[in-house]
Amino acid sequence: MKDLTWLVSKIDKDGSELYLRAPNGTICDRKEALMIIDGLKRFYNQGEKLDEEIENFNLKNKLREYLSVMEHIKVEFKDNQYHIAVPSFLFVKFNLDKRHWSFKCGFCGRKVSSKTDEGYYKTYNVKIGRNFTWKHQETDHTEDRACSKGCARGIWLDDAKQWVKENRLNKLIHFV
Ligand SMILES: [Zn+2]
Repeated sequence: MKDLTWLVSKIDKDGSELYLRAPNGTICDRKEALMIIDGLKRFYNQGEKLDEEIENFNLKNKLREYLSVMEHIKVEFKDNQYHIAVPSFLFVKFNLDKRHWSFKCGFCGRKVSSKTDEGYYKTYNVKIGRNFTWKHQETDHTEDRACSKGCARGIWLDDAKQWVKENRLNKLIHFV
């Protein structure tokens, strides 16, 4: 019964006719197939509560895959939730040898200038992702610069919560 795949033998007005086949090409015999169908019926006939269970399971599965690529983010699993620690952000000092420049903090909008400030925080190096992205423009990092640690955290959390929402992971993720 291992690694059986289903294949379509014909499709007509009544729907599809399927059969089961093993990886080596052997077609699953009638008795075994009917036993599998009975088993499937038992499992899938559990009613609507099963939909939620399957959805939760699949979300967890997806999340495990995601989290396995996040070396820069500290994750702890407890009370059935992933507790993700907001990372620390890199402080970038203005290079005073270069010409002056400024930008507006991506969170509070305060103007940060090389004339008056020592530097700024950047958040784009600690976004979750690789296999999956959480959105920010690759070419324009302006929105990922912050005037303070607090604002960097704000930008990061806004993005993180958006990502959680898009992936319907609300029940499973908690930011600390
Ligand atoms: Zn700010």
